[in-house]
Amino acid sequence: MTLTLTVLGTASPHPGPDRPSSGYLLRGGGAEVWVDAGFGTFAELRRHTDPARVDAIWISHLHADHSADLLAAVYGLAYGGLTPPAPIPVHAPADCAQRIAGFLGRPDAGFLSGILDFRPLYDGQVVHYGGLSLTSTAVVHDVEAYGLRAECAGRVLAYSGDSGPCPALTGLARAADLFLCEADIDEHRESERVHLTPEDTGDTARRAGARELLVTHVGPTLTPEAATARAAAAFGGPTATAREGSTYVV
Ligand SMILES: [Zn+2]
Repeated sequence: MTLTLTVLGTASPHPGPDRPSSGYLLRGGGAEVWVDAGFGTFAELRRHTDPARVDAIWISHLHADHSADLLAAVYGLAYGGLTPPAPIPVHAPADCAQRIAGFLGRPDAGFLSGILDFRPLYDGQVVHYGGLSLTSTAVVHDVEAYGLRAECAGRVLAYSGDSGPCPALTGLARAADLFLCEADIDEHRESERVHLTPEDTGDTARRAGARELLVTHVGPTLTPEAATARAAAAFGGPTATAREGSTYVV
């Protein structure tokens, strides 16, 4: 019943060579969940599993760096022969299916019903796949956005999605064994705080009592190394940089 996190991509806001945007594969309790479908992550997912066989897809918010590769998934699942045995549940903000339909010039999302089963996220939603439970918590961003708390056999992984500093984020990371958290910006420039500085990331981990911090989604005004060092200083606990292709045991 080991819970593991495999990093598919971490780049913000656009992908680079060997560096897709946000995406992860969670495995635990006999289940596999694709978490965020940023640019380039569908191809990376295929290194690790058959996309038609994942138990669910979970999308934190509908910004393209977290959701655009749902289009790649549609091409693979609908047209590419990667036919799923049953429609794959997609836990995502409510507008997700319509966004895909709009991009493909379809009047509605009915054509997706054979491959994907869209289920709108809401604050406090809990779903189970095998021995894995997924709790979604609304966080502060400039669009509807959620963080994720995944639990399996007493182990806890928390994931920020994209979030500003907020009590909801601290709460979802409470006593997490591994806290995967964005550190997107060097400093806050606007009054609306919709991302985290590395200090916010470390502070949130410390307040939450997380055991280990994994820094991801570092934007172009920072390097992953600098962001991780700053987050580690604020956290005061074990801190690492999320790396594409790496698998972490929670
Ligand atoms: Zn993002």
